[in-house]
Amino acid sequence: MPPPGSPRLRAALAAATDDRILLDLPAIERAYDALLRELPGVRVRFALKACPVDAVLTALADRGSGFDAAGPEEIVQALATGVPPSRVHYGNTVKSDAQIAAAHRLGIRDYATDSLQDLAAIARHAPGSRVFVRLAAPGGGALWGLGRKFGCAPADAVDLLLAAREAGLTPAGLSVHVGSQQMTADAWRDAVDMLAGVLAGARRHGITPDHVNLGGGLPARGYRDRRGNPLEPPLDKVFATLREGMRHLTQTSAAPLDFVLEPGRHLVADHGAVRAHVVRLTGRTRPADQPDHWLYLSCGRFNGLYEMDAVQYPLEFPGHPATAPRVPAVVAGPTCDDDDAYDPRGPVHVPAAVASGDPVWIHAAGAYTVSYTTRGFNGFPPLPVTILHAPTTP
Ligand SMILES: *Cc1c(COP(=O)(O)O)cnc(C)c1O
Repeated sequence: MPPPGSPRLRAALAAATDDRILLDLPAIERAYDALLRELPGVRVRFALKACPVDAVLTALADRGSGFDAAGPEEIVQALATGVPPSRVHYGNTVKSDAQIAAAHRLGIRDYATDSLQDLAAIARHAPGSRVFVRLAAPGGGALWGLGRKFGCAPADAVDLLLAAREAGLTPAGLSVHVGSQQMTADAWRDAVDMLAGVLAGARRHGITPDHVNLGGGLPARGYRDRRGNPLEPPLDKVFATLREGMRHLTQTSAAPLDFVLEPGRHLVADHGAVRAHVVRLTGRTRPADQPDHWLYLSCGRFNGLYEMDAVQYPLEFPGHPATAPRVPAVVAGPTCDDDDAYDPRGPVHVPAAVASGDPVWIHAAGAYTVSYTTRGFNGFPPLPVTILHAPTTP
């Protein structure tokens, strides 16, 4: 198996002399192009919380992407790429009156909703806008489900579309998010069935949405599960299910339908890495179900690796050959928090000879590492970001 990361990324990791996040911009651009080859014609609205880095957003915007934004601050960052406001939607169903008014002033005319209260606020503070109704998806099969906080039942969706029309808004679409790092194609098939039912129900009331938003959730390839096994998402099957689903929904609709996708993780996770360093490898006698060794890294849950409770990022220890003796260790971050660790039941085999200060490469860390970071919990600061560009040809 080839080592993780492109040669460009690996060279930059080797050259780094301090801790940082490295993002391989040409690889992210290639991931965007590959996604459009799999799903021709979809409108991509990159969920910018997955990588809110201006150079990444501009590169995606230049290729035709728009943005899924969660509030006025993200909208401002998205518009700074130069995309027109029509390529940015307010995808968060949670918004205050002031946030809606601010988005409206910024030119945003597409809003997600899942409640009558939010809808009334949109009608008042963003009059005449287009709304899309988010349906709740159960989130099974995903590493992080989103079915509890977001979305409404199919029956409520038709009522919301009717209420939108009544309030002078355009009932423009439907959306769903099947949960982040969704590992099953079935989740999208079930979502499509639900969307088709709502489209048919809306049609009986003379409402014909012009688009369906199939959300985010597309998985990254590079993670391991919390026990350390490769995740291997069935991406070919997922894309086939999405293509078939779009055909089905187009047939169900009374009018032409556009399809929107809001990938986050899928476009960036595998194309970034963290250069961190070893704080210390320790040995202590532990309860029988825990390994005796702990490997503390300079970087953990509060300065980039927030998701380390649910996934393991593959680690590489440059300078220690694969054949060097290894010990099973629980990998943990540097803070005084018990959650700042990989699952102790998934020890990582680390070189027994690692020393304090040795570099560690943390792979598949391009998604959510920039944004899921605190402003220095326990005094460990957020990591600086380095963007790798394609070589310029003279
Ligand atoms: C976070 C988010 C996404 C992106 O999710 P991924 O699982 O990273 O693809 C898409 N849409 C909405 C509304 C989100 O909140």
